[in-house]
Amino acid sequence: MKQKGVVLDGTTYRSYRDGKVLRFMAGGARHLQLYKAPWVVIHRADYLEILVETAKLLGVDIQLNAIIKHIDFEKTVVHFADGKVLAADVIVGADGKQQVLGFQAHCS
Ligand SMILES: Cc1cc2nc3c(=O)[nH]c(=O)nc-3n(C[C@H](O)[C@H](O)[C@H](O)COP(=O)(O)OP(=O)(O)OC[C@H]3O[C@@H](n4cnc5c(N)ncnc54)[C@H](O)[C@@H]3O)c2cc1C
Repeated sequence: MKQKGVVLDGTTYRSYRDGKVLRFMAGGARHLQLYKAPWVVIHRADYLEILVETAKLLGVDIQLNAIIKHIDFEKTVVHFADGKVLAADVIVGADGKQQVLGFQAHCS
């Protein structure tokens, strides 16, 4: 993250009308103190690459183009669009804003 990203000292928000400072959000030492981590700005592609590489290092099996159609929460089984079925001890839904899985979990 530190190699690819930029650690911020802070961000200044200014009025588009006259450039007047509206707000300053402190990064640097203040951020470290509050969150025990630096405030880093990083390109999304670099960030995703770091996540993917770290997951692989930890032994995660990444399967692309695997669209989930349905989850059977009783049997903890995932049904994919291509007909494949996968059983797991734990299923973590991370399908973002569409929330197909979250919606299904909420309704079941
Ligand atoms: C323009 C924009 C700028 C942003 N800027 C920032 C920022 O600067 N900093 C920040 O912290 N956040 C930012 N965000 C918010 C951030 O992108 C989201 O909060 C974050 O990506 C959410 O992560 P997620 O894993 O929940 O969902 P997502 O990143 O949306 O990932 C969901 C994944 O699930 C997959 N998926 C969906 N449905 C299924 C299905 N049925 N089967 C299989 N896979 C499925 C999708 O293809 C996708 O890959 C920004 C968002 C936008 C739109």
